[in-house]
Amino acid sequence: MSEHKAETHSEQETIRLAERLALLLKPGDVITLEGDLGAGKTTFTKGVARGLGVKRNVNSPTFTIIKEYQGELPLYHMDVYRLEDSDEDIGFSEYFNGEGISIVEWAAFIKEYLPDNRLNIKITYLDEHVRLLEFRPRGDHFASVVTELIG
Ligand code: ADP
Ligand code: MG
Repeated sequence: MSEHKAETHSEQETIRLAERLALLLKPGDVITLEGDLGAGKTTFTKGVARGLGVKRNVNSPTFTIIKEYQGELPLYHMDVYRLEDSDEDIGFSEYFNGEGISIVEWAAFIKEYLPDNRLNIKITYLDEHVRLLEFRPRGDHFASVVTELIG
């Protein structure tokens, strides 16, 4: 499988990349984000929200697990960190099969509920302002999205 990587050098650059990604998405798409605390998962989500035309400020849903925003498409922003040691299903399939875009922080904690077709993005801290983003598309749709996004 080909590797798709991008490096960003500021928060704004990550937001702009995510904003461009949002324009390539279609209803029902699922994006999963991996990376340590402070890597930039929520920052990336802010960019996706901006690209979808969400007006409200996006912040971490750690304590609510899911937050829903309205843009050109609905955006379902999930942070499932608190589900690490449980296999609680909080109705994921409703979101993943819905018309909105789902974006999931710490998605590895809910592996059993994820759809086969999805775009995983691993974000790694390289330096205070530098992040490595590794894109792993599953399925033809996301393969072409990633090619379009970063070649
Ligand atoms: P996470 O959701 O992964 O815990 P956040 O997005 O909440 O991470 O935090 C990322 C932090 O890193 C923010 O304070 C952001 O300003 C900072 N940052 C610095 N450089 C970058 C970059 N290139 N991309 C994303 N965030 C960056
Ligand atoms: Mg976060």
